[in-house]
Amino acid sequence: SLANPLRPAILAASRSSRVQRAVTGAPVTRKLVDRFIAGDDRDSVLRTVRDLLDSGRSVSIDFLGEDTRDEEGARATVDEYLQLVADLGALPEAAPGGSGVRRLEVSMKLSALGQALPDGGNTVATNSARTICAAAEVAGVWVTVDAEDHTTTDSTLAIVRELRRDYPWLGTVLQSYLRRTEQDCRELAGHGSRVRLCKGAYQEPESVAFKDRAAVDASYLRCLEILIDGSGYPMVASHDPSVIAAVGPLVAKTRRTFGDYEHQMLFGIRDLEQRRLADEGKQVRVYVPYGTQWYAYFMRRLAERPSNLRFFLRSVVSR
Ligand code: FAD
Repeated sequence: SLANPLRPAILAASRSSRVQRAVTGAPVTRKLVDRFIAGDDRDSVLRTVRDLLDSGRSVSIDFLGEDTRDEEGARATVDEYLQLVADLGALPEAAPGGSGVRRLEVSMKLSALGQALPDGGNTVATNSARTICAAAEVAGVWVTVDAEDHTTTDSTLAIVRELRRDYPWLGTVLQSYLRRTEQDCRELAGHGSRVRLCKGAYQEPESVAFKDRAAVDASYLRCLEILIDGSGYPMVASHDPSVIAAVGPLVAKTRRTFGDYEHQMLFGIRDLEQRRLADEGKQVRVYVPYGTQWYAYFMRRLAERPSNLRFFLRSVVSR
């Protein structure tokens, strides 16, 4: 959680290649990694997806990778997403041409699609994302663009806005730790707009982000109310019991039903709570990451939860 005093150090380590070699080289790492990552390849993730769908949950699948520095890497990422979307399109849950909730979604990071390339990164990322959206539309799969660190927010929101002219169902992510987000929620709470609201997982300066846990939580609740009062499709991405408890009363003040919003949680976190909400008839989507580039994602999960970190360090030290 944000109260974790080690959070800044772990998030800094998530960008260090030296620590990356040490962590990924430790034999004990794999077991903990497997708790958060649904395998190295599409076959493994598709097995997990099958189980989640059978339990009544929906999915958003993320092919791990970020900060691609060369065009070849960006192209390879697009190719993997196209294969993934095609495989998902073959499932009975795919909804081509459907106008309602799509149970199958992919999540993608624009930095994995070339956004950070020194030459024309925005154009490369826009074109890559457009290619994936076109395939997803045909397959009956949704797409949501993940939120990364604050230096990318303007570019990412502009790209999503442009692509939504052709793919109005394209989802976007807002982070309640950013001071700007309440305003972004107001602008994105309109009809047809799909917004995933999360607290935010990166290390950000005080100038742009609330640093205090209570302020981030309060901002989350303000943003949640704006989205639920709006006419879009809110996606409540949080494991926090007080956030989850706030949703019902806010929804009750509107004409929304269970079909007009959804809960989202990460694969491997609070599985029982996910099942409980789904069993109540609520829509629950699980964010399922796969691939070999798990290091940065894994470190962000460690930074969130001191008990995960303690477990990890203990298993490294006790070897
Ligand atoms: P926290 O404040 O971390 O936790 C609050 C409480 O939740 C804890 O006190 C505990 O009671 C409970 N809890 C949390 N973890 C556990 C656990 N492992 N076991 C049991 N209880 C637990 N961030 C981004 O920056 N960009 C994104 O695009 C993005 N996408 C996301 C998509 C989804 C579906 C989700 C769920 C998160 C996403 N995040 C993203 C991460 C998010 O920003 C937070 O870092 C992360 O979800 C932790 O915040 P929290 O709201 O769950 O609450």
